[in-house]
Amino acid sequence: MKYISTRGGGEPQTFEQVLLTGLAPDGGLYVPTELPHIDAKQLADWKNLSYVDLAVEVVAPFVGDALPRSELERIIAESYAEFDHPEIAPVTELGDNKFLLELYHGPTLAFKDFALQVLGRLLDHVLNKNDQRVVILGATSGDTGSAALEGCRHSDHVDIFILHPHQRVSEVQRRQMTTVTGDNVFNLAVEGNFDDCQRIVKAAFADQSFLPADRQLVAVNSINWARILMQIVYYFYAALKLGAPEKAVSFSVPTGNFGDIYAGYLAKHMGLPIDQLVVATNENDILHRFISNNDYSATQLSKTYSPSMDILVSSNFERYLFDMFGRDAKQLTDFMQRFGKEGLSVSEEQWQQVQAMFDSASVNDDKTCQVIAEVRQATGKLLDPHTAVGVESARIVRRSQDVPMVTLATAHPAKFGDAITAAGLDLPELPAHLADLFERDERYAVVASDLAQVTSYIKAHI
Ligand SMILES: *Cc1c(COP(=O)(O)O)cnc(C)c1O
Repeated sequence: MKYISTRGGGEPQTFEQVLLTGLAPDGGLYVPTELPHIDAKQLADWKNLSYVDLAVEVVAPFVGDALPRSELERIIAESYAEFDHPEIAPVTELGDNKFLLELYHGPTLAFKDFALQVLGRLLDHVLNKNDQRVVILGATSGDTGSAALEGCRHSDHVDIFILHPHQRVSEVQRRQMTTVTGDNVFNLAVEGNFDDCQRIVKAAFADQSFLPADRQLVAVNSINWARILMQIVYYFYAALKLGAPEKAVSFSVPTGNFGDIYAGYLAKHMGLPIDQLVVATNENDILHRFISNNDYSATQLSKTYSPSMDILVSSNFERYLFDMFGRDAKQLTDFMQRFGKEGLSVSEEQWQQVQAMFDSASVNDDKTCQVIAEVRQATGKLLDPHTAVGVESARIVRRSQDVPMVTLATAHPAKFGDAITAAGLDLPELPAHLADLFERDERYAVVASDLAQVTSYIKAHI
């Protein structure tokens, strides 16, 4: 399988090349040239596979000959061995043919573990084969940082530096990053906001001359193709549990950077019978305005109880737009270049395509807290605020009670205590493996919001 840039530049790339690159050199994102098609018979054969075995089947065609199948099996098995639920991604009932797909049983309690546990090990394999060392650099507003650190800390071939905005992440999120042990793991608290962190990371990638000649920077942010790939698996897993291939299933996906829902879109194109795909947003609703009203325009960023979805523009949406424009890189590039200067819309015909593919809703903080309280009362289940946005969005746009509606439960509620408290409920306990999180030693350096300070810190510590 080969990968091409959404902006049309460069030659098709291999899986290994795409793994080590973030953005394509022309500023586009990598997408596969074609998708494997899984027919009903194949789906039926997959019905009773364990999560790990299913993941190997789904992922293998995308990886191709980048690594031997036995190695892929080992990496995937090891990646999910530390999850604290035997099913890895259990499906639980909410009543009325509604379900949760619980994606928070990994080491850092959010769905990002599904991708980053594997990504860390894939990188390690490739770097080991090439006898190469790299520097992973990323900025986080919360969940990605801890998942990336956990996924990469065992690698002998990487040094990983994660920037977070000083005093602007929750205490649980900070401790999950700063208590990760390993002498190749570094946390930098930047005296600034998340945008400042991102600006520094971008500038460091643009000019890597501060690194020794045999090192390069690698990105593990949400545009990394391998992360999307690993997220396709749990759509298959949940749908097969709930009646596929005979019956269709709908999914509601709490959405920020459009990575998770894009994986669902790919699963549908691969042949999984998905009825509705619901883009669930908080008050940062650019995607909802586009899908419901053909209005693609950025507004002001709102700070909400679901911070991992506080995003003005969803970077992975470009991958979907590329398909919507008939894979015409020129049209896509023109659209992306006009964006930011003016509000955009697409043709009536294109918009109908969008509406046929996605439903959407936007849920504010008050409603989010109300849903957390209601679901607790009705079912005993405690939702995290991102998941609550998904559950409410599903309720708003659901077309048929006969089709199972699965909301992706993207994080454990203990990670987002503010919303739970605001909903009038007691804070849940952290799972056993994090029970002593507040007693563990923290390790991080506070630095000014300044590129030179960050790059000299990196130079001194690799
Ligand atoms: C990252 C994240 C999201 C958003 O996922 P995207 O792939 O960026 O759309 C939603 N919920 C939680 C808890 C997250 O950590």
